[in-house]
Amino acid sequence: MKNLEGKTIFKKHKTLTLYLNFENKMKKIEHIGIAVKDIKASNELFAALFDEPAYKMEEVISEGVLTSFFQVGESKIELLQALNDESPIAKHIEKRGEGIHHIAFGVDDIESEIKRLEAKGFTLIHKAPKKGADNMMIAFLHPKSTNGVLVELCQEIR
Ligand code: ZN
Repeated sequence: MKNLEGKTIFKKHKTLTLYLNFENKMKKIEHIGIAVKDIKASNELFAALFDEPAYKMEEVISEGVLTSFFQVGESKIELLQALNDESPIAKHIEKRGEGIHHIAFGVDDIESEIKRLEAKGFTLIHKAPKKGADNMMIAFLHPKSTNGVLVELCQEIR
């Protein structure tokens, strides 16, 4: 197919088809979660690393965490500090120390993704999406079904 200047525009159509096919699947790494002991100190460290400060801090009481977010291109880095000893972050740090805690993938339709993954045999920690930080509905997969990697699905609340 050619446009008025005689240049081929076939590629544009191909990209569009590809996008439509993947509409309901994982689209990108939305963020990587990093467990830290002292979020204030880590905010300074990561602000120096990215040459840009965190764009927000937010408590997620249901998870017992204080979070901060950095934008890095199209993805984000989420720092997580435990608010109490029962927090999953407190347990993670006790067992493994500070470091990468989870990888979050952005999806368009979290409920259909949960159903798709359950049908494939993955173990979901949350069988229904719940409210997470940074205006997202979220659900976690159990790391025992994903090679030890804690996977989060997230869908932006519009
Ligand atoms: Zn997260």
